Amino acid sequence: MGMSVLVVGSPSAGSLSGTERLDNFPSFFGSNNGGGQGWIDASLEQASFYGAEFAPPLFMATGIFKTTVEQNALIEVHLSAGTSTELSAPESRVLGKSLIVASGSVPRKLDLPHEASLWGRSLHNCALCDGDAYAHDGSKKSVAVIGGGNAAVEAIFLLHKLGVGVIHWIHRREEYRANQIEVGKVRQLSNVEIWAPFVVVEWVGAMKDNTAPLELEGIRIAGARNGQADADATSSLVIPCDGAFLMIGSTPNSEWLAASGLEIDPISKLILRLTPFSEGTNINNPIPTFSTSTSIQGVFAAGEVADDTYRQALTASSEGAKAAIDAQRYLRFMGPEVTSQHSSPGKDKRNDAKQQRQMIEHNHLEQVVARPVDCDLTTSDCIKHVISTYPVVVFSKYFCPHCRRALEALRSFSERTGFTEPFVIDLATVDGMKTQEQLATMTGRRTVPNVFVGGNSIGGGDETVHLQKVGTLEELLRKAGAIL
Ligand code: NAP
Repeated sequence: MGMSVLVVGSPSAGSLSGTERLDNFPSFFGSNNGGGQGWIDASLEQASFYGAEFAPPLFMATGIFKTTVEQNALIEVHLSAGTSTELSAPESRVLGKSLIVASGSVPRKLDLPHEASLWGRSLHNCALCDGDAYAHDGSKKSVAVIGGGNAAVEAIFLLHKLGVGVIHWIHRREEYRANQIEVGKVRQLSNVEIWAPFVVVEWVGAMKDNTAPLELEGIRIAGARNGQADADATSSLVIPCDGAFLMIGSTPNSEWLAASGLEIDPISKLILRLTPFSEGTNINNPIPTFSTSTSIQGVFAAGEVADDTYRQALTASSEGAKAAIDAQRYLRFMGPEVTSQHSSPGKDKRNDAKQQRQMIEHNHLEQVVARPVDCDLTTSDCIKHVISTYPVVVFSKYFCPHCRRALEALRSFSERTGFTEPFVIDLATVDGMKTQEQLATMTGRRTVPNVFVGGNSIGGGDETVHLQKVGTLEELLRKAGAIL
């Protein structure tokens, strides 16, 4: 549409990035489709090819405000570096003539005692990310999966495939929201114990010196009626469990918009208005309707932040397309005419977003320096030459948070050991795709990052972080001559 677009947010933070298989997206079919993250990567590639600019991955939007520039109402978005739990004060502001909120939803928790201390150690909500921790030791581990939706079913299949010993499936009703065919397949798995209708009433773990438990030992469950612990149930029981995956749905991620004045319903969902701006209209001058408009003029919404019914990658994408069309129609018929420094009339529209991104980067971001290479990186000879010349080579994309995590893990040795900076190759280019294909042929890994140490691929972000955590990375770097 020739609009200048700046995208803010981590491309790997959404629940889709933890989806191993994406089976219900038309045209994205086949066992090798790369799952949710593959779909995200392909979409990012496509968006950047058509000129979308991406704010650096560590930046999150923390609020939006209406502002005026030369008498025109604009949307100001505040950005901060950090994580959702550790945000610094607003560090950057960007201005848009229109805004699409697509901040998704956040996984629900049960909020039982000790949940916080166990979270990330024994309690999880991503089987793809954390399931393998329960598949070692000759698969004697026992885990629980809680919830009756498709995400729970998917987690069970994955844990089963990984080789987890026993999987307890706990659901508060006898009926399941999940696809019935898949529920039937779960019932056939010999290592799955089904507890329904049951609810979790306690995380059981040993207290040490009166402090909260750090390891789960079991889960106390009680019989349920209408989704709640049955008041008549006199007994409960403890199932021994090493870990649990809470797949109990999610809540729209709108907390960061609380101060914006946007209408938000009691379950945190953004309220959409078909004809939100009635001022000055009459029968001869009807205003266009916008199915994705929020209560603030020029602000549109798509996906689970405004939808608790359909919640599919496909429906969210469709809403994204509608929101983009609405934003374009809004700008065409009703949008502000801006002639400030923030717009560049007459220039390529893409420059607006580019300038805003550069401004954020210039102000706040320690950029990953991507190096030029003097041979053709789409060939295996060139890749072999590069990975044998430098002790550590990272094939990366500047907007990819997994790449940043891998680099952080590598750089964690810098101060203590005099670690040599990795040689970073940015593949966020059109030719990058071809290099990725070549890397896939050579290493079986098509996605970024692809981290090479001493000429060998050690994996992506998760693998690099894991090797750092278990202490193997330092040894590998030492052998490769990257640290003294
Ligand atoms: P969901 O469909 O909302 O299911 C959440 C489940 O958790 C429900 O069974 C719900 O029980 C239960 N639950 C909610 N709060 C609970 C609580 N406090 N205590 C105990 N149980 C609780 O969520 P989801 O499985 O995350 O799926 C979200 C969306 O993504 C859905 O549209 C789903 O189809 C889609 N999805 C698709 C795929 C795929 O196509 N590959 C994979 C995963 C997810 P009730 O049934 O009693 O409400």
